[in-house]
Amino acid sequence: MNRPAAPTLRTVTGELSPRSVRGPVLAHEHLVLDLDHRGDGAAVLDPRRHFPAVSAELASLRQEFGLSLVIELTCRGMGRDIGTLARIAEEAQIAVVAATGWYYEPFHTPEIDGDDVDGLAGTLVREIEDGIGTTGIRPGVLGEIGSHGDVPTAPEAKVLRAAARAARATGLSVATHAQLGRGGLAQLELLTGEGLSAHRVSIGHQDLLDEPEVHRELAASGAYVAFDTVGKSSYRSDRTRLRLLLALLEAGHADRVLLSCDISRHGYLLDEGGQGYGHLFRNFLPQLRAAGADDDLVDLLTRRNPLRFLTGEEH
Ligand SMILES: [Zn+2]
Repeated sequence: MNRPAAPTLRTVTGELSPRSVRGPVLAHEHLVLDLDHRGDGAAVLDPRRHFPAVSAELASLRQEFGLSLVIELTCRGMGRDIGTLARIAEEAQIAVVAATGWYYEPFHTPEIDGDDVDGLAGTLVREIEDGIGTTGIRPGVLGEIGSHGDVPTAPEAKVLRAAARAARATGLSVATHAQLGRGGLAQLELLTGEGLSAHRVSIGHQDLLDEPEVHRELAASGAYVAFDTVGKSSYRSDRTRLRLLLALLEAGHADRVLLSCDISRHGYLLDEGGQGYGHLFRNFLPQLRAAGADDDLVDLLTRRNPLRFLTGEEH
């Protein structure tokens, strides 16, 4: 049995009723991040150096677009800093949901080799029930659970299974990282194979995969299809993203789409000349509206869908 849907959202600054979230949600972001240990010094959002720019961007998005909630998917091995997340949430007056889990294999921590699926699930459940470290702050989502290639590697499969078991035990949902959009169907099969309902799953980075039939298959299964790298033009143009999104909407799957920008380098911050967390609102949604989306559809994609993903409400 899957645990019943969580009645409230668990944010870094406390429990929150989904009904009180009146403005849009960013479904996959990073506010503090450190992937430098893999030699990528640009993939850093430093808790000291970048804190002011991150907080200021979020505060201005709250004022300009009503941004209400950020789902922050930095997990174990990615430089997660839960204390700083709480400070950003307070400074910007934005609700932030924090994550637990493991990213894809290059970022796995040694505990993955040394433990079995149940042991890893236990580690995640303890963080979800008792809080991260000694902060008492509890994650509200499992993510971004990663794999790369068309089929997850053995350690990645182990982590996906552990995440599914932890999700079932705690009533949280699972957001994945499908590297360059690939392997989403295999991720979903592993997660649902552990008894997790598809509507408790979001398959990440699907806007990097130019395969509309895969998007339709994921959505038809009940899983969320995350177009979560909006504005990352070096990977895929927004013009292609828009075409893929419109195809999914036209196929009748508007209620399965999640949108975000996945800011994962300090160079993406507005302050440093990047597209910023607001690219979705400033650039992409106007293009979607020009293609015919009305207020209700935009509200569905940017608010009701991510809330339903988090709480586990089926429809
Ligand atoms: Zn990410």
